[in-house]
Formats: sequence, structure tokens, C-alpha cells
Amino acid sequence: MVFKTKIKCPICEGEAKLSKTSLKMFGGVVTLKDNPIYECRKCKEKFATGKTVDKTVKRARKEFSFARKLISTGGSLAITIPPDLTKFYKLKKGEDIQLIPAGEHLMKVKV
Ligand SMILES: [Zn+2]
Repeated sequence: MVFKTKIKCPICEGEAKLSKTSLKMFGGVVTLKDNPIYECRKCKEKFATGKTVDKTVKRARKEFSFARKLISTGGSLAITIPPDLTKFYKLKKGEDIQLIPAGEHLMKVKV
């Protein structure tokens, strides 16, 4: 996706240039680098446009996932949860979670 390199600042109407910023999500557990954002040269305000937000959300969906292998325990299959996520969601052994079928190739986990 290509963005305009300069746009007019919606606040002071100064010149805003496209730059990149790092975005921390999930309380800093995950950092999304090189997010497109506009920075005004005049008032120093930083802002995203609809297009840059779309791109950030798409990247977040793609990059904020963890590939896991299914393991077997007794008669069931199990998924291991990485320590970063157990810490962030404060998960403990024996705790109840919910698996929600969300599509043909998608299952959500409610904690
Ligand atoms: Zn401005």
C-alpha cells in the first residue's frame, strides 16, 4: 500500500509528513514496528489516517498471532500457550477458558 508522503495537518493546517513509529500493544507484550503515521512539522501532532489505520489493523491481525503445534494428552488434543500470553492474560493451570468456533478456519479463545 502506498501512502501520500505529505498531507495537510487537520489541526493547524501545517505540513504533515509520513513517518514511521513503533506501536506497543497488549501492555507492551507485542511491538508493531514501522507503523505509518503522519507527523506535523508545525504543531508536532501525530496522527493516523483511515488508510494507515487499516494497514496497522491488518498487520496487527497477521503479526499478533502465535503458531502452536497441537499436542496430545490422553484422548484430547492440547494447545500450549506461550508464557508472554499467560502472563498478559493472567492464566493459571486449571482455570476455565472457552473455545469459540469463529469460522471454518478460525477458533477464538475466551479467557
Ligand atoms: Zn499541525
